[in-house]
Amino acid sequence: MSNLVEIRDLIKKYPVGGSFFTALKDVNLDFSEGEFSGIVGPSGSGKTTLLNIIGSLDKRTSGSVKVLDKELEKLSSGESAKLRSESIGFIFQSYNLLQHYSVYENVEFPLLLLNMTNEQRKKAVMDALEWVELTDKIKSRPGQLSGGQCQRVAIARAMVKKPPLLLADEPTANLDSDNSYKILDYMKNICREMKTTFIFSTHDSKVINYLNRKIHLVDGKVEKDILTAQED
Ligand code: ADP
Ligand code: MG
Repeated sequence: MSNLVEIRDLIKKYPVGGSFFTALKDVNLDFSEGEFSGIVGPSGSGKTTLLNIIGSLDKRTSGSVKVLDKELEKLSSGESAKLRSESIGFIFQSYNLLQHYSVYENVEFPLLLLNMTNEQRKKAVMDALEWVELTDKIKSRPGQLSGGQCQRVAIARAMVKKPPLLLADEPTANLDSDNSYKILDYMKNICREMKTTFIFSTHDSKVINYLNRKIHLVDGKVEKDILTAQED
């Protein structure tokens, strides 16, 4: 498989009043295995729309999107749920943790849909929490953690099933600089060690400097696609 994600002539229109608003205009992009890349653009440029379509949370209007050799538009809702639960992890700006569950239970949650033994599940949860250095917080609830720690739990939850693709929608938008850099280091290490493909959306200059590839989105169009040399 050459590309993990292939996007061709993608158009997304939202119905607004009696008409349509075009949020993505003829987007063509490929993402390869282990790439650490970002969709960069101001608010309203279409970043969330694009990530949601790649993650099969939303449907395109026309064009095609292939993830792991599967054409998303041809999948049934059951097949796309299976693709999401097995192969795609999501990290959101607002963490989206379950407030009444412990850190351990939040990270365990995506594994309950998969066919695993209790032992395998426990090991995967503890491994994921080790990646983000939170094994001492397994019994805490999200309300007892800082924003940075909540985002680390969300990263552990997203990567616990070791998906080939991780999507992060403005993951550092609610964090201060120190926490943002920490979060970025965790994500970069996961990307490097597990060959996970990361696609971020961001307009945070701290994140932009970390990216190997920057895709500039302006009014729903790819304006620039810049590859920077890897440091290792
Ligand atoms: P970004 O994440 O870059 O801020 P979005 O993808 O959220 O941008 O939105 C892109 C554009 O599409 C914006 O102009 C937004 O108002 C519009 N949009 C997003 N979702 C909807 C929707 N459900 N209905 C109508 N317009 C929408
Ligand atoms: Mg957005």
